[in-house]
Amino acid sequence: MASSMVSPLAAKGSDTVWDLSCDACYKNEAQFYCEGCSKCNCENCVILHNQLQ
Ligand SMILES: [Zn+2]
Ligand SMILES: [Zn+2]
Repeated sequence: MASSMVSPLAAKGSDTVWDLSCDACYKNEAQFYCEGCSKCNCENCVILHNQLQ
């Protein structure tokens, strides 16, 4: 169950602006990025995503 989910929030402080919406629900602001899927997930969807892995 190795997860490649990383948080882009760690990059805050640079000039990178993280304003993507969740690729799963398209409603919430994405908080996590899955390198395996190349998709963004909000804090709600990332839980479901990890359960599906
Ligand atoms: Zn979501
Ligand atoms: Zn994934």
